[in-house]
Amino acid sequence: MADFDFDFFVIGAGSGGVRAARIAAGHGAKVGIAESFRFGGTCVIRGCVPKKLYVMASRYADDFEDARGFGWSVAGAEFDWSRLVAAKEREITRLEGLYRANLEAAGVSIFPARATLQGPEAVCLSDGRVFSARHILVATGGAPVHAPQVPGIELALTSNEIFDLPSFPRRLLILGAGYIAVEFAALFAKLGAKVTLHYRADLPLRGFDDDLRTRLAAGLADAGVELFPLAKLGSLEKTGETLRARFEDGSSLEADIVMAATGRRPATAGLGLEAAGVQLSQQGAIMVNAASQSSVASIHAVGDVTDRLNLTPVAIREGQALADRLFGKGAPPVDYEFTPTAVFSTPEIGTVGLTEEEAAGRVGELDIYEAEFRPMQATLTGRSTKAYMKLIVAADGGRVLGAHLLGPQAAEMAQLLALALRMGATKADFDATMALHPTLAEELVTMR
Ligand code: FAD
Ligand code: NDP
Repeated sequence: MADFDFDFFVIGAGSGGVRAARIAAGHGAKVGIAESFRFGGTCVIRGCVPKKLYVMASRYADDFEDARGFGWSVAGAEFDWSRLVAAKEREITRLEGLYRANLEAAGVSIFPARATLQGPEAVCLSDGRVFSARHILVATGGAPVHAPQVPGIELALTSNEIFDLPSFPRRLLILGAGYIAVEFAALFAKLGAKVTLHYRADLPLRGFDDDLRTRLAAGLADAGVELFPLAKLGSLEKTGETLRARFEDGSSLEADIVMAATGRRPATAGLGLEAAGVQLSQQGAIMVNAASQSSVASIHAVGDVTDRLNLTPVAIREGQALADRLFGKGAPPVDYEFTPTAVFSTPEIGTVGLTEEEAAGRVGELDIYEAEFRPMQATLTGRSTKAYMKLIVAADGGRVLGAHLLGPQAAEMAQLLALALRMGATKADFDATMALHPTLAEELVTMR
């Protein structure tokens, strides 16, 4: 058998790559990992973690207001963007250190360098070193795209830059209405920016249940976000410090910052994949089988670079399964069914399973259960906040196929609902479950 420098070489130290490297090393494999930016990847450095910290920061705005309804006087509350950015940076630097330390403790050789493929069993680092490896994992994630191809689009920033703006934007224009667009629209609006959201569809969050989408649009408007559906950008120009966006309907808008939140593309360019014989999709994603193996037997891929389900826990699960399969006792294919997901906008969305639209196309008759109510907290604050919950149930047998929530704590509830739905819970099981009072979640077991 050929001798290799490594049993397993991982390109990209993000959610999927780090997990795969650590688990493989734990199984006794000789593992190397290369990272061209910062250890931890998108989620830790410029994704889930800093985003959630900023969402938390933004929600204090309402908390200070709402506290009055509960007898508090809160005087002199002021927000300082640069202190938030600095606090975020300290936390992600701490996490980055932990990621490196955990890799080192697992015995993984670490290379802070860009890596490319040099054939099916060799990687070349940006410092010129070349290593052979029995198995190579490409876990390079994705990168934001400036989707509308219009003059001046390069003036728009993306989520990569938005976390570290040198000053807080007074006027922010966001293009798109997917996860990133609505999360950032809500958080910047709550922090005090004048936010406008321009998107080409009639409602935000294509692919989510329509009853959530309509309520989210209303909730964002309530949070002060100005919504422009069915909008098409024509051009962007800059005069001095001011950006002007012109739209195809003839309207225009001035902003301090324009953010393109118009999707992400798998990071496969310039990696040497095609030369190594790896098949890519039209969008540039690495095509893999259920075991995360590419068209070349020694090259594997997990996470966003495969463009399957672009979420951190999914990348981690795929990395774990791959390492267990290659170096451990084997692993069943990753099960993507009932993967919960949340949109950390305010109002928040948590969802698991089929939307009503999906279920209607796949399952026979459905029973739909809904609850819409004012959370207890809003009774004393005077806010018009509403919570909305919806269960999609198969009329035949009563299995709960989908659960869709909007409002406070929606993400936390969706995680636990995923467990119930995965285990095959029926509406009768929900009904038989004793309520926990007073909670928001009790509505889930008292819907009739
Ligand atoms: P990544 O985490 O992107 O890691 C890839 C790594 O590879 C990067 O560190 C990159 O620098 C490195 N790399 C790339 N090319 C090379 C090379 N040639 N050589 C060496 N290194 C290389 N998901 C959630 O589940 N929940 C959330 O709340 C959430 N929020 C998000 C918010 C934002 C703003 C964004 C952008 C994403 C968010 N996501 C969220 C998605 C999540 O971040 C990704 O699904 C996840 O990070 C994918 O992990 P990965 O390992 O595939 O790639
Ligand atoms: P999304 O795919 O969620 O949304 C992209 C948005 O850009 C959509 O509104 C889409 O419109 C719009 N768009 C695409 N192309 C064009 C175009 N040519 N012109 C105008 N608009 C366009 O991508 P994001 O960038 O928001 O997020 C990327 C992924 O990262 C998510 O899909 C998710 O997997 C992950 N993520 C997860 C988060 C979480 O778990 N909370 C948070 C952030 C990201 P249309 O709908 O009309 O196609």
